[in-house]
Amino acid sequence: MMKIGVSECLLGTQCRYDGTGAKDKYVVNVLQKYFELEAYCPEKIIFGTPRETIRQVEVNNTIEIHTHQTKKNVTPELEKISNELADEALEEELCGFILKSKSPTCGMERVKVYQPVNAPSEKRGVGLFAKALRERYPYLPMEEEGRLEDAWLRENFLMQIFAYKGISEFMRSKPKMKELVAFHTSYKYLIYSKSTVSYKILGNIVANNKQQPLEEILKTYHQEFLIAINQKGNISKTYNVLLHIYGYFKKLISADEKEHMLTAIEEFKEGIIPLIAVIKLLNLYVKRFEMGYLKEQKFLNPYPAELGLRSDIKAFK
Ligand code: SF4
Repeated sequence: MMKIGVSECLLGTQCRYDGTGAKDKYVVNVLQKYFELEAYCPEKIIFGTPRETIRQVEVNNTIEIHTHQTKKNVTPELEKISNELADEALEEELCGFILKSKSPTCGMERVKVYQPVNAPSEKRGVGLFAKALRERYPYLPMEEEGRLEDAWLRENFLMQIFAYKGISEFMRSKPKMKELVAFHTSYKYLIYSKSTVSYKILGNIVANNKQQPLEEILKTYHQEFLIAINQKGNISKTYNVLLHIYGYFKKLISADEKEHMLTAIEEFKEGIIPLIAVIKLLNLYVKRFEMGYLKEQKFLNPYPAELGLRSDIKAFK
């Protein structure tokens, strides 16, 4: 089973400063079905639970972590444990990470930074553990539980996790050039829906006009693939992919069917129907005309359908 790292309190473990948990329903009820969740809580290891709250404070233009009441600088120990746990995470070969928002340790962005004198706090900090993870895993799919409530971010995140798993397993299989071509072919439209620039770059790597050695090609491909899937898709790029796919069988179907198909694609673009409705129609023709090339496209089937991520109109913008 694929592994995802998660801030432990999101599982409901009572490891927060006040002895409570922060159970997240989506993480526990949905994601747990598909992924093995590896829990991490840096603070409980060094400070125990319950404990005094800590916060990020700006001192002489650098951000330190201080205990709130006793005003002790605990940056070195929190940094040390964050680095150690992030090193451990690297060995787990994770496909993604879900972090607890707002925490001075786990927050991915917009963590409150306090000023030592009575000035208002500013939401611009990054948690120490989140930072340590990002340094080691520059393209690991990472999100916060709160952001995953947004259908668009959730769809992008899950698509990225499954593609991340796909490339990791593929690279471990020590592929030959022929297999790289097949892998790339199956991801073409998914990549296109993320970035046309990445689509071109990856296509050029696989074309190998410079006659690079295989090892070099695989290394560059891996890197560029991670960059490609780290980008967010949007309606207009997805719309273009739908039109491309439609192009494969438009000459094979009746005028009525064409109109029906094109209306569905336009309605998706206008935000009237969800993507899944269009994909269902496309898949009907892919099956009817036995289009092997399209059948293999990850874009048409990027993750388990039960996740229902493309059923939400708000999943695309
Ligand atoms: S936010 Fe991070 S450090 Fe804080 S309780 Fe949750 S897992 Fe532990």
